[in-house]
Amino acid sequence: MNWLRLFNTESRSLEKVSPLDGKTIRLYTCGPTVYNFAHIGNFRTYIFEDLLRRTIKHFGMSIFQVMNLTDIDDKTLKGAIENGITLDEFTRPYKKAFFEDLAILGIERVEAYPEATAYIPAMIKLIQRLLEKGIAYSGADGSIYYAIRKFSTYGRLSHLNLEDLKVGASERIADEYDKENAADFVLWKAYDLERDGKIFWQSPFGPGRPGWHIECSAMAMDILGDSIDIHAGGVDNMFPHHENEIAQSEACSGHRFVKIWIHSEHLLVDHKKMSKSLGNFYTLRDLLQKGYTGRHVRFMLLSTHYRTQLNFTFQGMQAAVSSLERFDDFIERLSQVDEQTAHGKMGPLHNSASLIKEAYQKFNEALADDLNISLALAALFDLVRMVNTQIDQKEVSVHEAKEVLNFLRQIDQVLGIFFVGKDEEEIPIEIQELLRKREEARARKNWKLSDECRDLLQEQSYLIEDTLKGARLKKVHKL
Ligand SMILES: [Zn+2]
Repeated sequence: MNWLRLFNTESRSLEKVSPLDGKTIRLYTCGPTVYNFAHIGNFRTYIFEDLLRRTIKHFGMSIFQVMNLTDIDDKTLKGAIENGITLDEFTRPYKKAFFEDLAILGIERVEAYPEATAYIPAMIKLIQRLLEKGIAYSGADGSIYYAIRKFSTYGRLSHLNLEDLKVGASERIADEYDKENAADFVLWKAYDLERDGKIFWQSPFGPGRPGWHIECSAMAMDILGDSIDIHAGGVDNMFPHHENEIAQSEACSGHRFVKIWIHSEHLLVDHKKMSKSLGNFYTLRDLLQKGYTGRHVRFMLLSTHYRTQLNFTFQGMQAAVSSLERFDDFIERLSQVDEQTAHGKMGPLHNSASLIKEAYQKFNEALADDLNISLALAALFDLVRMVNTQIDQKEVSVHEAKEVLNFLRQIDQVLGIFFVGKDEEEIPIEIQELLRKREEARARKNWKLSDECRDLLQEQSYLIEDTLKGARLKKVHKL
């Protein structure tokens, strides 16, 4: 039995994963702010979290995962007000788009997707408790703030100390005068007619809206309880967002909020931070428009270890396409093994069974070691190479080919790249029809017509590959 170990950002060490309650891993993951389409940097985090989720299940543990949807914050309010529509009208299309994107990327649905707008009473309750305990205070502008000096271990997640924070704070612009300490953060933002238009909620501390940090504390504790097993997110949310979640939750409950914190590194594009002004900003939809599929994007985002910076380039995207093609060709080859191609053998031998066993062991060991995806994939590429050689030598029986296929199906429960989402890549009927016409023309030795068909297919980005079993189509991707 492999023990799954994860690198805990807080302790800075590998820790074994086992459920606090002995039954179910409770995982909280910060979700999207629904004011726009999520970009590939966001999806890097969600795909890492999907791998984490599937790995936990793979090692036999049950899971309850929460991913919140941030539908109240500066950006969603601004969008609604600028467009003269309600908050719900503004955020609903982006919520819908988010779930569409998840499906395209083969990301599993989690157990709960709470929306901030549905948890205002829980947030108000937490703020009231922080006020009662003297940890929160009312600022000059009527907003409620959290006094970080009242929480003695503030900074322990990101390994900052309060002195560092004061230095950082003094460099900030002076619009922070409403607070006692510039590093204090807002729990409840008092209503401002000009800024908030018609969007506000009533509370015992006056009209306004919750701060972003309290939203996650409230949703996490309301659904998962005071103490949760794992909290995951992108490293850009570690400070201040996750630090503030700890301060709020633990000051309220008196219990340790999170056992293991786990963070994924940044995604860069051509070694630069992704930004609209640099023209290197990509949503999933941008990549789909360039002819890539969800499976390609998933594989590209998945195949770099989560604690390594991922530098996105189109060459890297092509490399992902090629790697997947190698797997696809292999799967295709396995499914074509028949009694004739396997004439060297009469029945199952130990050979492929031992290869599978070895690959499985390496795969599990790699994943158990802080989700070492590079080693896990290397074990599979080794298997592909060795079995391919055996097929070349006609040494793989029909039964063995099936065993290898079953094995790939089994580990695809974790990776979600071999079989998931392949249906959407099916070749359109009109393209298949063109290929059929070309084959017919060739059979009648009508080379002119067959070339015309080939050119038309190329125009549609399909290349023809002639194989022993007839012609096959391969989609080409534009850079
Ligand atoms: Zn959050």
